[in-house]
This record gives sequence, structure tokens and C-alpha cells, in this order.
Amino acid sequence: MPSALTTLIRGGLVLVENDHFEHVTLLVQDGLIFDIIHGDGPDDLPVMDATGRIIIPGLVNGHTHSHGALGRGGVAQDATLEQFLAGAPALNGKRTVDDLRLSAQLSAAEMIRKGCTACFDLSVELPGPSVAGLHAVAQAYFNAGMRAVVAPMIADRTIYQALPGLLAALPDDMRRVLGAMTLLPWTQTLADCEDAFASWPVPNDHVRPGIGPAIPLHCSDEFLGACADLSARRGIPLQTHLAETRMQQVAAQQRYGTTLTSHLGALGLLSPRFSGAHGVWLDQAEAALLAQTGGGVVHNPLSNLRLGSGIAPVRALVDAGLAIGVGTDAANTSDTQNMFEAMRLTAGLSRVHAAPDMWVSAREAFKMATEGSARILGFDRIGRISKGWAADLLFLDRAYCHYVPLRDVLSQIVFSENGAALREVMIAGRIVFAENKVLTLDEAALHRAAQETAERLDAANHDIRLLTDAAGILVRSFCHATCTAHPQPTH
Ligand SMILES: [Zn+2]
Repeated sequence: MPSALTTLIRGGLVLVENDHFEHVTLLVQDGLIFDIIHGDGPDDLPVMDATGRIIIPGLVNGHTHSHGALGRGGVAQDATLEQFLAGAPALNGKRTVDDLRLSAQLSAAEMIRKGCTACFDLSVELPGPSVAGLHAVAQAYFNAGMRAVVAPMIADRTIYQALPGLLAALPDDMRRVLGAMTLLPWTQTLADCEDAFASWPVPNDHVRPGIGPAIPLHCSDEFLGACADLSARRGIPLQTHLAETRMQQVAAQQRYGTTLTSHLGALGLLSPRFSGAHGVWLDQAEAALLAQTGGGVVHNPLSNLRLGSGIAPVRALVDAGLAIGVGTDAANTSDTQNMFEAMRLTAGLSRVHAAPDMWVSAREAFKMATEGSARILGFDRIGRISKGWAADLLFLDRAYCHYVPLRDVLSQIVFSENGAALREVMIAGRIVFAENKVLTLDEAALHRAAQETAERLDAANHDIRLLTDAAGILVRSFCHATCTAHPQPTH
């Protein structure tokens, strides 16, 4: 298959305007869909024969973490979010810049293989972000051919400082050790982010910076306000984990005396550049406030189920008028970065407690996983096959069992596709996946490096892991007891 600057893609059944399927020819030029042609188009251009393919826009992952790829398999199967967070120093500690790059490459390879062409990556580096680390991640996506927002995930409070009453509930020896842990001063953290953004190493139309205050409770108000300033000053997206768990909802009332969203609103964080990942425990007033300020929410059904965080009220958020994207969350808590699965669950989970007229339709789920997530990333003109939009395309094999017989193509994609019928992936007019290979990365070499690196990191983090495993169990119990002691919300 050619990867020339100008290509005619002939013979495919194309999802035009995210609206209807049609046999058309796509003229791709300089990374864009230059024209949608009825018929074969000109004879003097390189042709990609897409006969037997269903062509849809690339899926856009509204929320993930590249560092999670090297942490795969490292999260206890019964971990809650807070237990997982308590273990983060052992999972993410002692990584070199090369390790960060490797994890981002693994993450990009997985996403490309599963039909994702752009993502919002909240990337962590301990003890804090560095210019070299952020640039390595950005460069990894760029070299893989993917689009991405790379947002350093940052905080200035440990989980022990974040959750009211947690430290006091721990046994003395644990309290002494865990209470002494601190994070870097936020002024230093943000100065390092600014340095990295000012010398951004790759073109912004492919990989651009964002800012990711990890979880509001884990960030001081001054820090959150400074993140909002930075986002406004640079015009970059800001994403945080918003009301992911019931514990966060309860702790917000304890710490702020109000909801998370209302607190963020008072601090000036809410804007069209703002998105909250998860939003499982948002109430109606929070949804209305987010809608009013132009903010968005990214639905992450895979990790919400894995960590037992709950089912996000997606229909209520849509009805409130919010921009909704879909994300996978990280490879260590989902445990797959498969946007097809996240999209299917978006439609499926909406049916658990709701009347049929409240369900998320296949079409809605598809739009959320393409244009919806693109809006969260702040990328213009990706997520739809339309003239002048990015040539970020997926080629599905219509002879695969998912499409035999073929009746309602979009419904069959949303409800049955898991990436197994994916044959080619094009990003910005360039084929990056074909014949079951990611063409921009040496996957075999990456896999060898991943195994060696994981073993080295596990050995280096062995002692801290013993501590955080024990602490994680106590954190989980504390959160469960705290949530049980507070009345359930209305939704
Ligand atoms: Zn996350």
C-alpha cells in the first residue's frame, strides 16, 4: 500500500460525514481528505485499492496514560482506584527517560493496533516532570505517527495528604512512614512543565502539550489555579480525574464543603479547554455547570469496571449538553487500550439501569469515540471523513465474521468490532499499520525491551512495593468505611 503524499483510495465502503456509508473514492493529499469522489477519480494518481474494506475515521482516545504500558499486569486484580494510587510509587518509580519513551512506544503500538489514531495522554514521571521526559514521550508518539496531547500528570499532595482522615486511620508505624512522604513544590513542577512546553520538540498538529493536574483533591488550590492560568495562557487543554470514585465525591464535601466541579468552578478551572476524566459521580448541578462553561467529560468504562468505580451517568451528561469523549484509561487499569471495546461498553452500559429511550445508541457512541474525543483533545477536524478533515482512517475487512452478513454497518461496528477485522490504519495520509504490523515501530524489539525493563524496575521497586501493597489494603478499607458512613448520592 502506498504512503505517498497524494493517494486515491478506491473501492471502499466509506462512512461519510459520520452519517452514512457509501462507495466513494477518497482523494488524500498532504495528510488531509482533499476530496470525496463519486466514481474512480483521476487516472494519473497513486491508488490504494480498498476493495473489500469498510473505511471509518480513526478512533480518538480521550484519556489514557502512556506510563501504564510498562505497568501492565502490575495492578492487583481486586484493587480499587485508591488502592491502585497508593501503589503508584512502586509501579511508576525509578524510571529513566528511556523507560518513559519505551512505555509511550508500547502504548502507541497498542493503540494503533486497535484502531486509535489520536489520544490524550496524562503522562507521569516521578518525582516530577522533566523536559527530557516529556519530550521523550512527545517524540515517541510523533515517531510512531500518532497524534496526541501529552499532558504531564502532576500533583502536590500524596493520597495520604489528599484524603481527610486517612493518615489518622493508619497504624502508628505506617503513619510515620507514609505521612513523611511529600511531593515536589508545585512551583517547581509547573516551571519544569513550562520549560518543556517552550521547547516542544515536535509539530503541534501531531503532538501538542496539555496540562494534567491529576486529581483535584491531590492538588492544592493555588496549584490548581496556576494550572488554569497556564492552560489559558498557552491555549492548551487541561484534564483532571473528576469524580472518578465515590470516595472523591465524599472527600470533596469533607474538604471543600461542596462538589468537586463547583470547587473547580470557583477556582476558575472550568472552560472549553477543561475536561474531566471519568465523571462517574457527577450530579446534575455539576453537569449543568460543566455544560455552561463549555467543559467536557471523558467516559472510561473499561477502568471504571475494572476498579469498581461505578457506571458514569452518560445519558444525563449528554442531556446536560456536555462534550463527551470516550477513553480507555491506562493499560494497567483497563487492561487494554482498545477503543472499540470502550465504544461498545459506552453503548452497552447505558442500558443497565435506564429505559430504552435513554440508552446510548450505536451512532452516539461512535460519535463520542471520534468527534467527541477529538473535541476534548482540542484537535480541529479529526474524527470524521469529510472534505478538509484529517486523513486518519481505519480499514476494516468486510469479509470478517463481524460483517457477514452485512446489514447495519455502524451498528455492527459498534456492537461487534474489537479490532480483529482491522487491516490497515492511516494517520495523516500515511499507512502506519498493515499486514498485522505496526510499520512505524519495531514491535519485537519493544517487547524484548519491555520484559527486561519491567524486571529491572520490579527489582528496583521491590522494597517500596512491599510497603505500598500493605498500605493499599488499608487505604481500600478506609475508603470503603468512609463511603459506607456517608449517604448515597441521588443518581
Ligand atoms: Zn486515568
